[in-house]
Amino acid sequence: MKKDVRIALTFDFDAYSLWIGTFDSNSPSMLSRGEFGPVGVRRILASLEAEKIPATFYIPGHTAYAFPKTVEAVAAAGHEIGHHGWVHENPASVSADKERWILEKGFEALDKVAGIRPTGYRSPAWDNSPQTVPLLLEHGFEYESSMMGSDFQPYWCRVGDSWTKDGPYVFGKPVDLVEMPVAWHLDDFPQFEYVVGKSSTNQGVITPRDLLQMWKDEFDFLYDRIGEGVFIATMHPQTIGRGHRMLVLEQFIDYVKDKPGVSFTRMGDYVRHWKQGKTPSLPADTAES
Ligand SMILES: [Zn+2]
Repeated sequence: MKKDVRIALTFDFDAYSLWIGTFDSNSPSMLSRGEFGPVGVRRILASLEAEKIPATFYIPGHTAYAFPKTVEAVAAAGHEIGHHGWVHENPASVSADKERWILEKGFEALDKVAGIRPTGYRSPAWDNSPQTVPLLLEHGFEYESSMMGSDFQPYWCRVGDSWTKDGPYVFGKPVDLVEMPVAWHLDDFPQFEYVVGKSSTNQGVITPRDLLQMWKDEFDFLYDRIGEGVFIATMHPQTIGRGHRMLVLEQFIDYVKDKPGVSFTRMGDYVRHWKQGKTPSLPADTAES
């Protein structure tokens, strides 16, 4: 079987915005964890440069204003920059008007700081509202990356799905917006970060070898059993950028890089590759497909 496996390393450069927006924190100590983000980005850029690997960074507008030189360095290195909200708000917890404002404020910051108009979107908290997909279409996005209905194959987003607890699921209309699926088990943050939140605690702080093993096993399944698709890993510079974790990221790159048919991709490049010859359709095995 001919192999065509593309590895998409993605980095959510949240910096302060995660602690201010998602965790609603006023603690300088908590925010300082985000201040480590630019340190992590510099290490990541060096590792990617050493291997000539293209990657994708999702950057909230708030981060762009806080750390403009780091954002410029990401852009100058040729990596894709995607939209990641303004201050890491959860779109499902704001009004439709506020969600539109957040999108526009994020665009404005990335334009002012790096002269970039992203075509990819990743929701902070990987949560979407019913308005998210229509808003992304209206703003010209090609893809979004916050949902989990697939693993190694992109799929078409839909508008107008509906459901009740006493009737069948109704599929909406597939639209020209590609989903690049994510997964919590391929994300560094829940595995590593010890966070005492207002309503819960995430213990985190596992050995990075556990994450490396999950990455390798997922990759092996894709490579050996399926042979074609995209492996999307999600990392956060403030998290993966710590020394012992950087070593594991580099070990994963070493594990995959020389296998026949494996290459690294930016997310938008994979979307355009996958879309060729396809038109929006429902997933296989749905009642209406
Ligand atoms: Zn984020």
